[in-house]
Amino acid sequence: MNLHRDLPDKMPGNFFTREELSDLLANSRLNRGENKILVEALKESEHRFHQMVQHLPAALYTCDAKGIITFYNDAAVALWGKAPEIGKEQWCGSWRIYKTDGSPLPLEECPMAITLKQGRAESGHEIIIERPDGVRLNILPYPQPIFDAAGKVVGAVNMLMDITPHRRDEQALRESEERFRNIADTAPVLIWCSDADGIRTFFNKGWLEFTGRAMQEELENGWMKGMHPDDTAQYMQNINEATHSGREFKLEYRLKNNEGSYHWITDHGVPRFDSNHAFTGFIGSCFDNHEQKLVKENLEKHVHDRTQELKMANLDLARSNNELEQFAYVASHDLQEPLRKIQSFANRILEKEGSELSETTTGYFNRMNSAASRMQQLIQDLLSYSRITASSEKEFQSADINILLEEAKAVLKNLIDESNTVIEGADLDSAFVVPFQLQQVLQNLISNSIKYQRTGIAPYIKIASEKVSGKGLQNLYSDKDYLHLTVTDNGIGFEQQYADRIFDLFQRLHGKSEYPGIGMGLAICKKIIQNHNGLIKAVSEPGKGSAFHIYLPLEGGMENS
Ligand code: ADP
Repeated sequence: MNLHRDLPDKMPGNFFTREELSDLLANSRLNRGENKILVEALKESEHRFHQMVQHLPAALYTCDAKGIITFYNDAAVALWGKAPEIGKEQWCGSWRIYKTDGSPLPLEECPMAITLKQGRAESGHEIIIERPDGVRLNILPYPQPIFDAAGKVVGAVNMLMDITPHRRDEQALRESEERFRNIADTAPVLIWCSDADGIRTFFNKGWLEFTGRAMQEELENGWMKGMHPDDTAQYMQNINEATHSGREFKLEYRLKNNEGSYHWITDHGVPRFDSNHAFTGFIGSCFDNHEQKLVKENLEKHVHDRTQELKMANLDLARSNNELEQFAYVASHDLQEPLRKIQSFANRILEKEGSELSETTTGYFNRMNSAASRMQQLIQDLLSYSRITASSEKEFQSADINILLEEAKAVLKNLIDESNTVIEGADLDSAFVVPFQLQQVLQNLISNSIKYQRTGIAPYIKIASEKVSGKGLQNLYSDKDYLHLTVTDNGIGFEQQYADRIFDLFQRLHGKSEYPGIGMGLAICKKIIQNHNGLIKAVSEPGKGSAFHIYLPLEGGMENS
């Protein structure tokens, strides 16, 4: 049996009716048994075909040569919004058809009409159909002609693709881009966009006004003609790195403005990613920071110049300080010799001829001697003051303050014993110091406490130490730890308002006749403590004693001072 030979051509989409099938079988040259098998096979095949086409997700229908609908599937009804009447309605009867620009599409120009008329497939011609409920859909029809055995067009099959969601997405994207352009054009900054290769695809109005160039001139790499040639290499390096890594970047470069002069701008590029997190390019915003940059550069130059000047001034100061110290050292040293001679000759005269001298002359000699020893003290003090910052005297080491205190006490032994002074101070911490300088400080403070004692009250001096943080302490580094050393006495004290002044050279609060001295002891203490990057201050009240507070950094690094 040959079905193709035995079966006549059948209209597309028209399934065999019982009558047609009876006719067909009656005219066939098959016997009864063969006919029965054929009928069953045909029925089964038609059922499968019908099922398949009916439930296809794509809208499908067929029509005859006049365009009358002969078959449609469920998806076609869903798309049309109405089921047409088979054998009566034309493919174009149930809806209105428009071109994509919204103008009506004449029926003879519809893709289906062309296919039926010209007997060729049509594809890619988008149309808009309006359903009975007024909804418009964007459709891509794919009509294919159906020919009979003689090659005559007997109808067509058409598949309709609903691309409305796609067109809506495109429209939404266009609107969103339009909105972005509107915002970008009104923003008071220069905005640009680039693709994933760093090629610029958009510049806002602000940019075009700044450069005075047209969009077409700036697009792709055209804008780079406006960049200062000296900044190009650095820009390229940075943009390549940023494009490669898809990371944001911030750059400064000079861009030629519409008057032809270069302006510094700061360019901030932020990466963009699509819904799959793939890098799609940058959106950049720039602002003209020319003025700030110039001010900053001027300021930096100014600071640099001032720093240089200060450095020079410091060098001059250090040189003149050095010369002064040299002078003070040499002068003090050389002055001691004649002074010793004055003292020794005066003593010899008093020893040998003392009995023959008048009382007044002896008095003069005694006053001469005491003036000479005051001068000697002054010279010694000047000498130690001038030596404090000399590098040869700055050997810092960790020293036990208990030992330094004992050495100071040993030097002052006679004074301590004669005045019945009690000194309390034990378990003192170690510190990183120039040992003999700190001993000098202790010596000066103790001798002052004894000197400025209250009448009838034996001096009592307490020395204590504790480790503290510089946090919250004025004039100290908040991130450093310090050794806080206190020397407290029960002497005459002084008004707190003079607490700073007493550390200046030759400043005294008490008369020379009452309390001998030249006003250098505390100045020496201050200079030594400063030499240690530390701090010394006094707290006192008349009649209630004084306390001297010393702060010494616990860690090294004093060598830089
Ligand atoms: P001098 O003791 O030689 O006068 P200083 O520099 O040691 O010089 O002291 C400066 C001044 O500070 C002293 O003249 C005195 O008035 C005051 N002074 C120093 N130490 C004490 C103290 N422990 N008690 C009271 N006054 C003091």
